[in-house]
Amino acid sequence: MTDFLPYGRQSVTDDDIDAVVAALRGDWLTTGPQVAAFEADLSAWAGGAGVAAVTSGTAALHVAYAAAGVGPGDEVIVPPMTFVATASSAAALGARVVFADVVAETFTLDPAAVAASTTTRTRVVAAVDYAGHPADYDALRAALAGSDALLLADAAHSIGATYRGRPVGSLADLTTFSFFPTKNLTTAEGGAVATGDPELLKRARRFRNIGLVRERDEQRWPDEGGWHQEVHSFGLNYRLPDVLCALGRSQLRRLGDFLTRRAELVARYDEALAELPGVLTPGRRDWATPAWHLYPVRVLDGRRREVYDRMRAAGIGVQVNYIPAHWHPAFADLGYRRGSCPVAEAFYAQQLSLPLYPGLRDTDQDRVIDALAAALRGAPIRSAA
Ligand SMILES: *Cc1c(COP(=O)(O)O)cnc(C)c1O
Repeated sequence: MTDFLPYGRQSVTDDDIDAVVAALRGDWLTTGPQVAAFEADLSAWAGGAGVAAVTSGTAALHVAYAAAGVGPGDEVIVPPMTFVATASSAAALGARVVFADVVAETFTLDPAAVAASTTTRTRVVAAVDYAGHPADYDALRAALAGSDALLLADAAHSIGATYRGRPVGSLADLTTFSFFPTKNLTTAEGGAVATGDPELLKRARRFRNIGLVRERDEQRWPDEGGWHQEVHSFGLNYRLPDVLCALGRSQLRRLGDFLTRRAELVARYDEALAELPGVLTPGRRDWATPAWHLYPVRVLDGRRREVYDRMRAAGIGVQVNYIPAHWHPAFADLGYRRGSCPVAEAFYAQQLSLPLYPGLRDTDQDRVIDALAAALRGAPIRSAA
């Protein structure tokens, strides 16, 4: 049996390990100099936006929605073709989630569906850069004209991508990143919020730190004593520690190389699979330079389950990204119905993510391609190299 090839995995070097060890030997462990330095390094990738590092991509969404003032009575528009956290973190703040369908080909949020779903209660419209391909931000802005809603980019897949030459992180009012090991860079667990609005940044930083107000000129009782700090609105502890920010800084130095290798692998898949019957390769728009996190193919003729099972049996860790978010029982129990977002749901029925990560060798990729072709032919897949 040959090695199992996962759909995604981290790339950790001795430099990363040295950076973590140095931070461990330092004085801070938690909030120290690596945090501000990591935020500054991320800002450079995000078009100069202000950045708050947090403990996960889910935390980043929770913080961003809280900074936007999302609460009971508000609506948050989300595409169903995403990891459930894009929706569930808004629900956790008491908002009503409104699912709007995606466009065919890129499977990112459909501006027309957003226009049709926006009401006076819409507080945030959250787009997802599915697979690393940016959503159509100019069209989403246009769809929101006349509304007070903020635009959020869930860029868990797309750090380093550009849209019409502008970097992800500078396209929406609030952008969230994830640094989970399968993503384009990792801090083990981690995430960040980016925003060009100083007021939103301040609210995000406060929510990340229990809501504590330390600035004397903003305190209600500033003469209490030198130890004094106040909570004016409730927050949580979502601080990303110095040790993990050191790892993030070290990883960020290789993000350009990671994206180059991912793009090479995507080009090889595109070429190898272009003529293969029974499967469609991912679509893209010429205004986007994606930061490919996933390689999502579509398996035709109702054979996705069979192809998934055959490839898994051959040691190829294909994945399905994602079950439509409104299908989760927590949403079903609230009355959300299957069939409400037909483009996303039809895509889900066909979707299969092939292995894609910087450490995937050409020979590994050839094994994936051969296994996919064999699975589609219905032939037994050789598991020996
Ligand atoms: C991974 C992911 C998240 C959540 O990030 P975590 O770091 O795993 O909490 C949110 N949205 C999308 C689209 C993701 O892929």
